[in-house]
Amino acid sequence: MRKFSYHRAHDVSEALGEVAEQEEAKFIAGGTNLLDLMKIDVMHPRHLVDITRLALNTIEDTEEGGLRLGALVTNADTAYHPEVEKRYPLLSHAILAGASPQLRNKATNGGNLLQCTRCYYFYDKATPCNKREPGTGCSAINGFNRIHAIFGTSEHCIATHPSDMCVALAALEARVQVSGPQGEREIPFADFHRLPGDQPQKDSNLAKDEIITAIDLPPKGFANNFTYLKNRDRASYAFALVSVAAGLEMDGDTIQEARIALGGVAHKPWRNQEAEALLQGKRASRADFQQAADAIVQGAKGYKYNEFKIELARRSVVRALMQAAHIDDSL
Ligand SMILES: Cc1cc2nc3c(=O)[nH]c(=O)nc-3n(C[C@H](O)[C@H](O)[C@H](O)COP(=O)(O)OP(=O)(O)OC[C@H]3O[C@@H](n4cnc5c(N)ncnc54)[C@H](O)[C@@H]3O)c2cc1C
Ligand code: SF4
Repeated sequence: MRKFSYHRAHDVSEALGEVAEQEEAKFIAGGTNLLDLMKIDVMHPRHLVDITRLALNTIEDTEEGGLRLGALVTNADTAYHPEVEKRYPLLSHAILAGASPQLRNKATNGGNLLQCTRCYYFYDKATPCNKREPGTGCSAINGFNRIHAIFGTSEHCIATHPSDMCVALAALEARVQVSGPQGEREIPFADFHRLPGDQPQKDSNLAKDEIITAIDLPPKGFANNFTYLKNRDRASYAFALVSVAAGLEMDGDTIQEARIALGGVAHKPWRNQEAEALLQGKRASRADFQQAADAIVQGAKGYKYNEFKIELARRSVVRALMQAAHIDDSL
């Protein structure tokens, strides 16, 4: 690990000032991702700004009837918060499907959004990687690409975003609250993360000198009809190969609105709103869920070792929707 300086900030403006003033500075929250990357020298900030003492650690009602999740609330405290469990169980289930209890006790909501890909080559400094070192090439495209993306890839990078929490936040149409030198702004969740394009080193649209202060959940929580389905190599403590966050608003058997977001398949949580619209006004049935799933995987592109993800995604969408609609999956 290289040498770095450290400063503990006590309010947002102090934290922003520290990052703006110091060269190669980074915020540190739970440290569960950043410290790992520093230890293996994949990231080497010269200055760390500890934000854990900022007053961004509450969960509060919003005026519009939703919830505001502070950026520094831990993943565990968010998942077990009574209002999250009651009104946004999809989010609670997604968070609890990730990492381990110890990690969730340390990991924060802001850090979860900004965690780095789990592409093996990104962590292996002996191999080329455009995300780690722009312009060096992508080792995964012709390498071992079992965990990689099937949607929205580019010739420069086929990595996936590893978060479970973010898949639920995409389905819930959360909004990210941000502060920076120019003031405050709000980023719709769909615009927060980026596809790799020709700049895979940029994971999100957050500027380097901006801080996440909160994540807003709109009033609609899909609390009666939801599922977070995570397929992975081990039953626990493993990242998703394919995950699905599904929420349905039902009137009897009829679907008023459907939300479907996939994880483990793209550089950002993956939504296809045209496929969601196919379900609007339909009676919940396996046949219609299959049609939506077919529409979602239509544009998928597999690589040598991850072709299986296309069929896995198709079947996972159907199963998640069956569960969300409370239809016996064996029918
Ligand atoms: C072994 C292991 C298994 C895991 N399994 C899963 C899993 O199955 N599913 C899953 O979803 N996650 C998993 N994780 C990832 C874990 O959820 C993340 O590491 C964690 O959420 C990151 O939060 P943090 O507060 O520790 O972030 P940090 O490590 O402190 O920071 C991560 C990044 O975010 C930046 N940052 C942090 N907070 C802010 C803020 N408020 N504003 C601006 N920038 C900020 C930091 O500068 C840094 O770049 C796993 C992690 C490990 C180590
Ligand atoms: S997929 Fe992306 S992160 Fe992985 S080696 Fe290629 S450029 Fe690097």
